[in-house]
Amino acid sequence: MDILGTVRETRDKVKEWKAQGLSVALVPTMGYLHEGHRSLMERARKENDKVVVSIFVNPMQFGPNEDYESYPRDLDRDAGICRDAGVDLIFHPEVSEMYGDNFHSFVDMTVLPEKLCGASRPIHFKGVQTVVSKLFHIIPADRAYFGQKDAQQLAIIRRMVIDLNFDIEIIGCPIIREEDGLAKSSRNTYLSKEERKQAVILNQSLEEAVKAIDAGEKEAAKVREIITDKLNTCPLARIDYVEVVSFDNIQPIEEIEGSVLIAIAVYIGKTRLIDNRIIM
Ligand code: AMP
Repeated sequence: MDILGTVRETRDKVKEWKAQGLSVALVPTMGYLHEGHRSLMERARKENDKVVVSIFVNPMQFGPNEDYESYPRDLDRDAGICRDAGVDLIFHPEVSEMYGDNFHSFVDMTVLPEKLCGASRPIHFKGVQTVVSKLFHIIPADRAYFGQKDAQQLAIIRRMVIDLNFDIEIIGCPIIREEDGLAKSSRNTYLSKEERKQAVILNQSLEEAVKAIDAGEKEAAKVREIITDKLNTCPLARIDYVEVVSFDNIQPIEEIEGSVLIAIAVYIGKTRLIDNRIIM
């Protein structure tokens, strides 16, 4: 497995594979890898000849008071996980390699980033789209793998690829959870023991919503109320948002019909966690 830090070497390597007629997968990550990332790599491994994982904590997608500096990083550990998963290449650039002097270009979108995480983190998706666009140009892969854990991000990347004619297939992968149901996340490492215990409330509140929908509940407002009530039973939980939106355009809906995204963001202590369910 190679670990490359420059755009030129990485692009040359991938082009070499493409010239040999090999299929290439890209798994974009910010590192501090866990089973969630690993599930993406394993799926990519099964479906492609070569697998590239990018590890880059992208400063452009963090707001001024967010956790860019403290975001966990451990390249040695990540390299071990990638090696185990059969990854062929890690692209691990410095910030200066991705954003040199006089960087002035951005990729942005209307409508889909307005609500949910885009409302709480105004510049976040502009940063995500810009870095993902750059990665798609640097690594001309056939397929890119994204987790449903970041459902709004997945919807935005899918839209961006269609709108801007990127020649890449976007594969969405299911959320991997801890045994007690908490969605795996690099940010779970911020939680104290007590916070970690209480963090299961996110998944539990979504479970209750799904149960109600399965039993015939059709009103989005009622579904939000069920989730909010459950979250409010947890002393350490502070709600950022509880939303029921169309998975296609990430706009609020009144009735549960079509493909629906139920998405929540909740602070457990100081740590902001997200989770969701997609109802088809
Ligand atoms: P991140 O390193 O947090 O930017 O995540 C990189 C990719 O891994 C994104 O596509 C995430 O949606 C995906 N991912 C993160 N956590 C999980 C999880 N628990 N299950 C599935 N995919 C995940």
